[in-house]
Order: sequence, then structure tokens, then C-alpha cells
Amino acid sequence: MTEHQHPEHPPHGEGTRAVRAGLPEPVKHEPTLPGPVFAAHFHLPGDPTGPYTYGRDENPTWTHLERAIGELEAPGQDSGGPVETLVFASGMAAISAVLFSQLRAGDVAVLPDDGYQALPLVREQLTAYGIEVRTAPTGGDAQLELLDGASLLWIETPSNPGLDVCDIRRLVAAAHERGAKVAVDNTLATPLGQRPLALGADFSVASGTKGLTGHGDLLLGYVTGADAEAMADVRRWRKIVGAIPGPMEAWLAHRSLATLQLRIDRQNANALAVAEALRARTDVTGLRYPGLGGDPSHAVAARQMRRFGSVVSFTLPSRERAERFLAELHLVEEATSFGGVRSTAERRGRWGGDAVPEGFIRFSAGAEDPEDLIADVLRALDVPVA
Ligand SMILES: *Cc1c(COP(=O)(O)O)cnc(C)c1O
Repeated sequence: MTEHQHPEHPPHGEGTRAVRAGLPEPVKHEPTLPGPVFAAHFHLPGDPTGPYTYGRDENPTWTHLERAIGELEAPGQDSGGPVETLVFASGMAAISAVLFSQLRAGDVAVLPDDGYQALPLVREQLTAYGIEVRTAPTGGDAQLELLDGASLLWIETPSNPGLDVCDIRRLVAAAHERGAKVAVDNTLATPLGQRPLALGADFSVASGTKGLTGHGDLLLGYVTGADAEAMADVRRWRKIVGAIPGPMEAWLAHRSLATLQLRIDRQNANALAVAEALRARTDVTGLRYPGLGGDPSHAVAARQMRRFGSVVSFTLPSRERAERFLAELHLVEEATSFGGVRSTAERRGRWGGDAVPEGFIRFSAGAEDPEDLIADVLRALDVPVA
């Protein structure tokens, strides 16, 4: 990643930051990363003060992880600064926490119409609570047209699974001008790919289930924000709903962050290599990868992203060809989700819900050797439909 580094974010020290993020001061005879604290309640004699009282409100294992994510999302503002991070049981728990804690009946929210597949369900629920929801596509900054009277703009960039990109700075400026807050779903990029707060957003929200933790063995979500009052509302929502991560998941997630840069760099390089290999094929259409020169998203992505993600999308001529391709892959598991160290792919249309062609494939590049991965993909593409 030398080509498209953003001038505001010098590249130095990211790997160092990842391996050390959130670690407490060393204590003799204690491990570097303390183990998970399993506690429903904490010793609490006398007045119920201090950070750790009851396990739904706080947990020391969360605290370490929250500091770590905060250091990655907003470097330099982690200790005592205004930026706060809260972890949740899943990405959807984090998304719901922002939307349902920030919006009131009569408010207007602007959402993408091509974002994560659970957003239409969220939209239904918001509408049922008397919140007006407007939607527009991510590409072309189309949400810009809907901001009059809005109090919250929700951005997902790159969008999932279409991989369109919108201009975060431009949308933030327009939203703030109208008094609307802005939240960015940072799941696909991870904080090493994009830092929404530095681009002006009020919240960076993500599923930690995907590339952030990268092993496909836990669900997690988080919200990072700089507005103390807004974050207090998000925290209150977590307490009310109780959508909290278990200490074991939080600890595993923190452990996984140490390899974040290594994983993301390899996976993103593999994604680019897969995209370049697919570009040469006549049986592949609709190829999208924001890191690919010539991709419709590339120019905007290069201005605001530092790494372009591990997901590539493309379309094969038919459902049969797509199913055969997936069945023939040896190194790529057919599974949903993305961002893991083992490559996965799926025919997205099997879920319904996303507006994609029958042969549409969402491909998530893992950390395999690029030669092995490319060879597997090209071989599987060449197997004819029986
Ligand atoms: C997976 C995903 C979510 C939801 O995260 P969970 O951890 O599955 O709840 C939200 N947004 C995006 C972009 C995702 O890919």
C-alpha cells in the first residue's frame, strides 16, 4: 500500500499499533493480554461506585478491547480523549444501538438501499416507531439528495455486496450543514482500510465478525464515536437491550487484533490478485473491486481508503455456472460472511433480498498463498457445467 496513502494518515506504526492496541500497563507475573474475566457481578461493598459493578454494564475484558478498537479507529485519541468505543454482541446490535438510541418518532433517517441485507428489516422497525426512512443507492453519492430535514445519515461504504463507494467527506459536509449526524458502517474496510471519524463522521460502526477478527469464530460489533452525549445514549441503549458480548468472545477478538495488519494486507493483496485474474476472463462480467484501477469506485475509494478490502464481486453467466464454480473450488469454502483468513465465496442470490443477478458471486479473499488461490479459482472456472 504505497500508492494511495491518505496524507492525513501517515502509514507509520500501524502494525506496531495493531499488536499493542489496548494492552494494559505491564504488571510483573501477569500476562501481556489478561485473560477473559468471567463475572456476572463484581465485589461491590458500600456505595456502588467504580467502573465494574454488574456484568451487563461493564467488564474489564471489554475495556481492553474497546481501547484497542478505539486506538485503531482514531489513533492518538485513545487515552482520556473524547473518542469512546463500545462493544456489542454483534454488528447488528451495534447498528441498532446507534439508530434506535439516536432517532425519535418524527425524525428522518437516510439509509442506503444497497447496504447490508438486514437493513430493510431495520427500516421496517424504524418506520413502525414513527421514524421516516428515506433510501438511495451508495454510488454517485445519491443519498445527498435526501438530506433536507434529516437528523441521521447512515452510510455503508464500500457497500455490501455491490462494492459501490460514496464520498464520505462530501456527504458528511452536506449532512452537518443540515444538522444531521453521520454514521458509517466500517465493516468491510476495517479501521486499517478507512477511518470514518477522521473523514468527519460522528460514528464508525462495524461488525467485528468479519475482517476485524478474521477467523470466523465469533460475532461482535462496536460503535466508536467522538460525541460524548451521543455515546452516552448508545451506552444507555446497550444497558437497556443487553446486547453485550461474552468475555470469551471479547478476549478472542482482542487476541485477533494483533494480526490485523498482517491478515488485512495479505487478504487485500489476494483480493486484488483475484480481481486482476478475473478481469482477463470473458465469462466474468460485472467485476467489482474498489482497489482495481478502472473500477467505478476506484477514484473515490483511493481518496478516502488506505486499503480496499478483501471482497471481490462478479457475475458468471448463469446460476448453474455459478453453482458449478463454487462446487469445484478446493481452497475456497462456500459460506456466507467475509473477511476471514480462509477464502469463502457464495452465490449471493440464494438468499433473496439483494438485487443481484442469479450468477452473482461474492468472493472473500483469505490469507492463502496467492498462486494457490488464483490457480484454484481459474481451475474451478474452467470446469464445464455437466
Ligand atoms: C455482517 C455485516 C453486518 C452485521 O454484522 P453481524 O455481526 O452479523 O451482526 C453489518 N454490516 C455489514 C456491512 C456486514 O457485512
